[in-house]
Amino acid sequence: MGYLNCEKCNGYYELKEGESPKDFDKCQCGGELRYVETADVNSDSLKKINSSSNNIIRIAGVLFGASIMLIPYYLYSPFPTSSSLVFINIDSFLLWGVGGLAAAFIGGEKLSDGAADGFYSAMISGLIVIIIFYVLLAHSFSNSSLINNIAFFAILILFYSLIPGIFSIIGGLIGIVIRTTVNLLIKNLTHS
Ligand SMILES: [Zn+2]
Repeated sequence: MGYLNCEKCNGYYELKEGESPKDFDKCQCGGELRYVETADVNSDSLKKINSSSNNIIRIAGVLFGASIMLIPYYLYSPFPTSSSLVFINIDSFLLWGVGGLAAAFIGGEKLSDGAADGFYSAMISGLIVIIIFYVLLAHSFSNSSLINNIAFFAILILFYSLIPGIFSIIGGLIGIVIRTTVNLLIKNLTHS
């Protein structure tokens, strides 16, 4: 598959399935990249280019996924006493799954990344919901003891992060499968 070598910092980037040297403009240090068949690797410099650009894309994917996962709360109420509770509407489950799928599709490489990205999106969106609805709007953390407040927070995390997380993790796994398939298709098209 080959490598891109930076002339300035001598970092290496390992090209992955479906990636072409044309997809890369410059190294993050600003140096010009050139294609080489083999890296004379020093794994440290290899990691350097690899991780930081990928991490930014991954974080962007997780945040985008989290914002999709918040849509059900615009449509339905997070409050258990509401007649349109978010958990009794199938759309919520679908959108939570789509959020995880989007996060994984944008930034994931492996199935484990996809599951993790789906989970991170669920944690972020869940925390935002808890802060907006239970802390800012309902002032629900006024229990008498700290233990009660912690227990209440744990229950909220279960409902607004971990349960949606089941759907977003499944979505994340599907996202990786789609991403891998799309990459293979592009690779086959460009090579034939
Ligand atoms: Zn460089």
